[in-house]
Amino acid sequence: MSDRRPHKFPTFSSPDEQRTHMKQRMAAAFRLFDRFGFNEGVAGHLTGRDPEHPELFWVNPFGLSFGLIRASDLILVDHEGKVVEGDWPVNPAAFAIHSQIHAARPDVNAAAHTHSHYGRAFSTLGRRLDPLTQDACAFYDDHAVFDDYTGVVLDVEEGKRIAHALGDNKAAILRNHGLLTVGTTVDAAAWWYITMERTCHVQLMAEAAAGDPILIDDECASLTASQVGSEPAGWLSFQPLYDKIVADQPDLLD
Ligand SMILES: [Zn+2]
Repeated sequence: MSDRRPHKFPTFSSPDEQRTHMKQRMAAAFRLFDRFGFNEGVAGHLTGRDPEHPELFWVNPFGLSFGLIRASDLILVDHEGKVVEGDWPVNPAAFAIHSQIHAARPDVNAAAHTHSHYGRAFSTLGRRLDPLTQDACAFYDDHAVFDDYTGVVLDVEEGKRIAHALGDNKAAILRNHGLLTVGTTVDAAAWWYITMERTCHVQLMAEAAAGDPILIDDECASLTASQVGSEPAGWLSFQPLYDKIVADQPDLLD
């Protein structure tokens, strides 16, 4: 890479510039989700709130592989689920869930959900993650369980109930379904997703080892959460992944 300067949180001189930046971050997140194996057929979505029209959001085209998505492939969807920019359809579940989260949480500019393996496996337990490791503390007292699986989410009323369960947390475990994470930036939402999936993996392995994993105590977990679980920490953690995927797959920026 030619640009090896330290990362700085971006500022923008126009909504156009901010939109382009956000869409490139989204395309990079999809390529990373593909690299990490978060694909499951046509399932999974990541949304980004439009910087100029906050009631509209950008999302992946329904049926296009995460591994092929470029910034210019993303489609723009309105509050009724109509595609207002782009030729592809929107996944009805993406609209039902994400529209309600973006509506309920003005602070949330991005939301991610896929059917990744370890999140899906952990979701069947119907409980929250324990503070077993430093990384797990990013979710300490900051994630919820939506424990009422009723089939594929196609109804905005179901999306409303998921948004309600999410509350003001950064993530939710959708029981018998998978993980959902949100952020003030695409970078943070994508990072929370990646690290939450790995956190599920680690907890499943630790518990499968037939031992009795030692929990971090409440006071230390709270302190660690403030260190690794903040939005700036989530944003920063995504930057090395972004740099690498852009270096490997520069067409994602198109
Ligand atoms: Zn799903």
